[in-house]
Amino acid sequence: MRNTVHYTITPRDPAAHLFGVTLTIERPTAEGQQFSLPAWIPGSYMIREFARNIVRIVARCGDDDIALSKLDKHTWLAAPCRGPLTLYYEVYAWDLSVRSAHLDQSHGFFNGTSVFFRVEGSDHLPHVVDINPPEGSDQVPWRVATAMRQVRGRRYGFGRYAAENYDELIDHPVEMGAFALASFQAHGTRHDVVFTGRVPNLDLQRIASDLKKICEAQISLFEPQSRRAPMTRYVFMTMVVGDGYGGLEHRASTALICSRADLPVVGQKETGEGYRTFLGLCSHEYFHTWNVKRIKPAAFAPYDLASEAYTSLLWLFEGFTSYYDDLMLVRAGVIDVGAYLKLLAKTANGVLRGSGRHKQSVAESSFDAWTKYYRQDENSPNAIVSYYTKGALIALALDLTIRAETKGRKSLDDVMRALWQRYGRDFYAEVESAGRGVDEAGVDALFEKVTGVKFKRLLDRWVRGTDDVPLARVLAPFGIAYADNRKRSKPALGMRTVRDHADCKVANVYEGGAAHRAGVSAGDVLVAIDGLRVTATNLDVVLGRYRVGDAIVLHVFRRDELRQLTLELAPDDTPSVTLSAEPKPVAAARLRAAWLGQE
Ligand SMILES: [Zn+2]
Repeated sequence: MRNTVHYTITPRDPAAHLFGVTLTIERPTAEGQQFSLPAWIPGSYMIREFARNIVRIVARCGDDDIALSKLDKHTWLAAPCRGPLTLYYEVYAWDLSVRSAHLDQSHGFFNGTSVFFRVEGSDHLPHVVDINPPEGSDQVPWRVATAMRQVRGRRYGFGRYAAENYDELIDHPVEMGAFALASFQAHGTRHDVVFTGRVPNLDLQRIASDLKKICEAQISLFEPQSRRAPMTRYVFMTMVVGDGYGGLEHRASTALICSRADLPVVGQKETGEGYRTFLGLCSHEYFHTWNVKRIKPAAFAPYDLASEAYTSLLWLFEGFTSYYDDLMLVRAGVIDVGAYLKLLAKTANGVLRGSGRHKQSVAESSFDAWTKYYRQDENSPNAIVSYYTKGALIALALDLTIRAETKGRKSLDDVMRALWQRYGRDFYAEVESAGRGVDEAGVDALFEKVTGVKFKRLLDRWVRGTDDVPLARVLAPFGIAYADNRKRSKPALGMRTVRDHADCKVANVYEGGAAHRAGVSAGDVLVAIDGLRVTATNLDVVLGRYRVGDAIVLHVFRRDELRQLTLELAPDDTPSVTLSAEPKPVAAARLRAAWLGQE
């Protein structure tokens, strides 16, 4: 028998949210086998310690129980055994997110990083998983959705699945339950769309038809000649909830969470903001199939899942992906140019809101993702910048600069294709150059070589420095007018508040604003302005009676202590960028049409 690592996974007690897993190692290490669970999941750059959800574990050598000792927070050592060595363990799965595992009577979902131990020294071996139905289940028949290769059982059924190695095993999340399913072909590759959760009158056909356009546009971007997708099959698996949003990319699938209200109902024709958001999320995760799952930073090739993997390049992997996600919607024709410009303006407003963008570069933000971007607090707007949103504006500015300077002969698409050909296409192939990541120092040179445009100065300022991207200037040659219509005549407190039951609570105090100068802090509860009560819903109405420069007396509770503060109302400087496409001479119109795919 070929040496393999063999797992079985069973929804053992859905009411207690427990998966039962057995792991059999035919030939364990003679001096004692080590095994461990990852501390983080690729795509979500935060230490999550998945081993904390292991609730029971025993080891057997043949028919005998053997000792297990724990070496650190996520590593165990089994006593010496000639094999086969079998581990039995239970995993608590009650995290309704795309990052770990979730199990109840209605469905099961897991990422391999939450349930499959990595067997030290066996990463490279074939891994086999038998996925079993829930024990004693006599409810609606469950099906299985995953991009993992099935080797035994009905299509979408329970049975045996296999992966070439551990890295592949944990890159195919699994959904099981009575889900809704639609399939489509994108340039000849099968794509499945799976929805778990109650969604009355879901228009699955419309979603499949819109996703097909988006997927085909992306496949054509990377492989304009062959139009070949990088995977043999792809699965969009979505958990539908009352209120939620999120996604995680994998090499041949994505796990998503969305709000029910964002999904189209049969008969609905328009594309509202919610559905646009959902399509943007799908587009984003799909783009990662190339950018980060195959074109990877050197720090992720291979992943070290025991501790933080530092890279300064997330602006390229998340920022560029964030630029292309909405751009592909307009190029695929699922939204129009006006809607696209609104999305761009929204991104610009988000970036311009925080003064943290002057303190942290996107290169630093990438490196510190583990402790800052993924662990945000009330001071984050004043302290950090998002490599997603500012990264997207950088991609936009680079794309438009290349297009303008080369008179439309080159674009950021050429850069993406060059990265794809050099690093991505063969990443999982068994050839000499496979498995290589993008070298941090080589990025500027690669961009210049592909486009002939000098990038070092721009990247020094926008990526490694903290300069704002000059949006008005880069958009002008494309006949897009940039305006910032911030309402300076409106008085502002210089803070963001949130509703906390009936109270109006301060969420963020913006550095240099009126609230900062008056001594208001995040967490304070606003009680009254000039003796009139402030509630969760009436702040704007109360403020509406004042003008810029007026001094107000503010009462706030800090914890249980009442404080009186004097605040001078300042001009509202909330960014309010709008972008509009102007009818322009032919040259600008042609550049714009090529950029937005409107030819
Ligand atoms: Zn992403």
